[in-house]
Amino acid sequence: MDLGIRGKRALVCASSKGLGLGCAEALAEAGVDLVINARGAEALEDAAEALRNRHGVGVTAVAADITTEAGRAAVLAAAGEVDILVTNAGGPPPGLWSDWSRDDFIAALDANMLTPIALMQALLPGMMERGWGRVVNITSQSVRAPIPQLGLSNSARAGLTGFVAGTARQVAGHGVTINNLLPGIHDTDRGRSLDTAAAAREGIDPAEARRRREASLPVGRYGTAAEFGATCAFLCSVHAGFIVGQNIMPDGGVNNLTM
Ligand code: NAP
Repeated sequence: MDLGIRGKRALVCASSKGLGLGCAEALAEAGVDLVINARGAEALEDAAEALRNRHGVGVTAVAADITTEAGRAAVLAAAGEVDILVTNAGGPPPGLWSDWSRDDFIAALDANMLTPIALMQALLPGMMERGWGRVVNITSQSVRAPIPQLGLSNSARAGLTGFVAGTARQVAGHGVTINNLLPGIHDTDRGRSLDTAAAAREGIDPAEARRRREASLPVGRYGTAAEFGATCAFLCSVHAGFIVGQNIMPDGGVNNLTM
């Protein structure tokens, strides 16, 4: 399917690896020029070079911490006008409800709620003026099915979801859609670090933690960044203009929700 977005320009945050890279790759495959970002410059440059070579699109790489004001300013300055925004950042660490201080909550809110909101506030006006835009926020299945040990993530992402629910309806009339993608477990560094934490809690090795988790999924395996990226690219396509303010959950069927 032609996604109809060849020649558009996208900012994909936190995208040298994992789900962000999956989104960047699928958008590049659709002919979208990219601004990609991560803190570590080396992996970011490698990703940019690979994307250019594989897809022949323009790729600007900005090494910066997207959760800081200075980092966002650098990324936005390099990005200029963009048609497509994919927000993403690392997830907060797991723990116990009693572990977390006010500072821990502020850091989680900054990374996973206030950063995507600031990026939308910066880029939505241009999209609305031009009459077309797409925003996809990478959140988590924990929004709809909160995970006990991910209290920081549950809290921050719930706040972002509330913001998007209202804002998506306020901008839709200008040809701009905002949707959230809520990953279940995927085969990325983050997925592997969740296995390591589960293994430590249960006194087993990470491979066994993964085997048990895979067995608990209706599909019997973890999701891939390529599958996730293809879903993101579809939401950014011309075909998805009627999908507004949705929370779409690629989770291998694990959450049996009817709403
Ligand atoms: P990942 O494999 O650890 O990759 C994270 C990417 O984001 C890397 O490129 C990393 O590069 C970059 N990054 C992290 N923090 C950043 C920051 N502050 N500023 C700029 N770039 C940053 O993670 P993932 O699995 O793709 O997960 C992406 C998001 O989905 C996370 O918020 C995660 O919590 C959420 N999620 C993932 C899963 C899963 O199973 N994978 C499930 C539910 C939710 P640098 O480290 O060099 O900055």
